Amino acid sequence: MEWYALLIIPIVMVIAVVLRTINFKPVVIPEMRKRHEIDEKKVVESLSKMIQFKTISNLDSSLVNQAEFKAFRTFLKEHYPLINERAEYSEHEAGVLFHIKGESEEFPTVFMSHYDVVPVMDGWQEDPFSGRINLDTVYGRGALDTKSSLNAVMESVEFALSNGKNFKNDLYMAFSGDEEIYGPSAPAIVNYFKKKGIKPYMVLDEGGAIVSNMFPGVKNKVAVIGIAEKGFMNLKLTAVSQGGHASTPPKNTPITDLSKAVIKLNNHPSFRLKLTSPVKSLFDTIAPYSKSFGIKLLFANLWLFTPVVKLIAKLSGGEFLSMFKTTQAFTLASGSDAINVLPSSASFGINYRLRPGETSDQIVKKVTKIIKNPNINVEVIVSCEASTVSLIDDAYRMIEKAIKRTWTDVIPSPYLMVATSDSRHYHEICEHVYKFSPMDVSKKDLGKIHGFDEDISIENIINGTNFYLNLIDQL
Ligand SMILES: [Zn+2]
Repeated sequence: MEWYALLIIPIVMVIAVVLRTINFKPVVIPEMRKRHEIDEKKVVESLSKMIQFKTISNLDSSLVNQAEFKAFRTFLKEHYPLINERAEYSEHEAGVLFHIKGESEEFPTVFMSHYDVVPVMDGWQEDPFSGRINLDTVYGRGALDTKSSLNAVMESVEFALSNGKNFKNDLYMAFSGDEEIYGPSAPAIVNYFKKKGIKPYMVLDEGGAIVSNMFPGVKNKVAVIGIAEKGFMNLKLTAVSQGGHASTPPKNTPITDLSKAVIKLNNHPSFRLKLTSPVKSLFDTIAPYSKSFGIKLLFANLWLFTPVVKLIAKLSGGEFLSMFKTTQAFTLASGSDAINVLPSSASFGINYRLRPGETSDQIVKKVTKIIKNPNINVEVIVSCEASTVSLIDDAYRMIEKAIKRTWTDVIPSPYLMVATSDSRHYHEICEHVYKFSPMDVSKKDLGKIHGFDEDISIENIINGTNFYLNLIDQL
């Protein structure tokens, strides 16, 4: 064999890489923009009213004002005459369920949302529950998370019914009243579905949104639709003391034992990066839009460059990195009550967010192995596995179509949600669970969620309602 025969493999590889890059083009299915003749003033005022109910959830149930929750549910029953005339209404824990019968019950759709909000801290510029309508915004807790999507669901369905809409399939509207505290209403509704043998064809809940600067070299805004979400686990490490006095301390105390364990866990490379299918779907969808040849070359050839992409993820950190791995955050530390007293026991709390494919069991085993200290007790306080991955097929295409009819210049894309939502409970009974909040949000908006001075633009309120109507058109 001649020496230059050795060059054949690298040359073929280079040609393959370049060809794949050149052919790496976005799949564009154009859609005509469609607006509906909704009464915009009514839609905006309805959200304002919803915000005025102080439906603040709290883990301590004695601090929850049940009357506000009840008043909100009454509002839903009185404010939407057509829905209430047509739908069967039921309550499940703090959750409410409306069921509108379609021509067939075979392929039901579920529109989800939640009407509870997180508490407000001092520092708001105005009354957080004023629901004040300004020139171009509506102000108050829950404006973004997520009375806006609840309002958009109710307003769009009411409007569709007023136009004589007949649903081909059953439609459910399921709103929980304790999403923010991982409460029981969404599981109760799922149990109700199971008992009745109802298998939703498609579920849509809050989740991704329309975001800017999503991907290097892509100018368009991207509408990210969650097709899976990470799991979570709270772990408590506890070490106990052999006793002793702070004036004559032993070499090892619960605090030193735990500190060593934390350092070991923090430095361990064991939480490997993995390119899971929802993240790969995201890259496959948006990377072809990149104006950067280098970026396209990388992402068109993940068969070769996945290690490079993982390295970039490691270097960039943040949400980009968390899509690849199970993350570990040390959150809670407790020991002795006074500086001059040795603790009889000490503990550390760790919050894990589990990537698809890595289970809480595997993590507990890993943690125990890494810290390698029989004096430290490892205890799972709460855990929930990563969801399954929803299919990208006809149901997904309906959401995509509704997005493109509402915002013509955005790129819809599947992605992995790193936060949790109530819709995680639906994965076991449905293969098409999607997580998308129909609004265009800036970084500043995202900071207002669970923060101060939450408000939503009137444009988002109107577009959100049009989005659901564009989806309802297909149901
Ligand atoms: Zn929410």
